[in-house]
Amino acid sequence: MTPKIALEEHFLAPGFEEYFAKTAINISPALFGKAAAALTDFGDRRLAAMDQIGVETAVLSLAGPGVQAETETATAIAKAKGCNDFLARHMADSKGRYSGFAHLPTQDPAAAADELQRCVRDLGYVGAMINGQTNGAYLDDDRFSVLWERAADLGVPIYIHPYNPPDFPYMFHGHPELFGPVWSWTVETGNHALRLVFGGVFDRFPKAKLLLGHMGETLPYQLWRFDSRWEISNRGTRRLARKPSEYFHRNIWVTTAGVCSDEPLRCAIDAMGCDRVLFSVDYPFERASEAGEWIEAAPISADERAAICHGNARALLGL
Ligand code: MN
Repeated sequence: MTPKIALEEHFLAPGFEEYFAKTAINISPALFGKAAAALTDFGDRRLAAMDQIGVETAVLSLAGPGVQAETETATAIAKAKGCNDFLARHMADSKGRYSGFAHLPTQDPAAAADELQRCVRDLGYVGAMINGQTNGAYLDDDRFSVLWERAADLGVPIYIHPYNPPDFPYMFHGHPELFGPVWSWTVETGNHALRLVFGGVFDRFPKAKLLLGHMGETLPYQLWRFDSRWEISNRGTRRLARKPSEYFHRNIWVTTAGVCSDEPLRCAIDAMGCDRVLFSVDYPFERASEAGEWIEAAPISADERAAICHGNARALLGL
């Protein structure tokens, strides 16, 4: 069994149940109850799921949306700190089994940057996870330059995790099955990433690192089309230093979280490079056994499997 590091593995901190309940519309009622129990466990149950598939270290992150759904800035700042202190205690007690992505109060970008720095320098975190838009603000907004600059200086990635858009887009009317993990989260999160690319965030911060789950939210499949069409569509209003696809080869990494399927894996490897694809489960929303058995049997070389399962994570996160 190939040793593994997994990057999109969730927990729930005390006081975050109400935010998490906002995702109930996107999850089956049976799974929702089971998930809450699994999310609050840091002991035998979680470790057994990791051991079963060879996960040596799980990088834990708060189950969304967390304070990204908070409207009061002071509350978001205080709760994010509390969440990060809570996970840090479990990380310290875990003998290296648990690492963490910080939870950030994106309502106040300077406070988010300071909290990221505190988490990385003082608490051993390896990056941050942000659950999509915050009260309608996306991370390409100029206000977030302070956060991208700090993350680049610290050398850590920011992982954008799916959540719902700020409004209910007309294109989903009458189709509740499309609103959530089946499709709208992919559209929303892929679009968020493209706002960063086309908004020039990676020209302004060439060392910024972005992580996306779900095999890159379909974007690796579209790189050629981004390159061939973007200058026509943008009508000269924006300038980029490079072709859009080049940022996917310099600033962006993707995880297998929540996708146990050979075809998109092959596409992600071929489009982005094997060093940009990292194994994850999306525990407890995906079964660890299914994700582990799938990657062990996937039609890739032994070198590719080792890179995807642990080598790339060690390089990107410094583990
Ligand atoms: Mn997830």
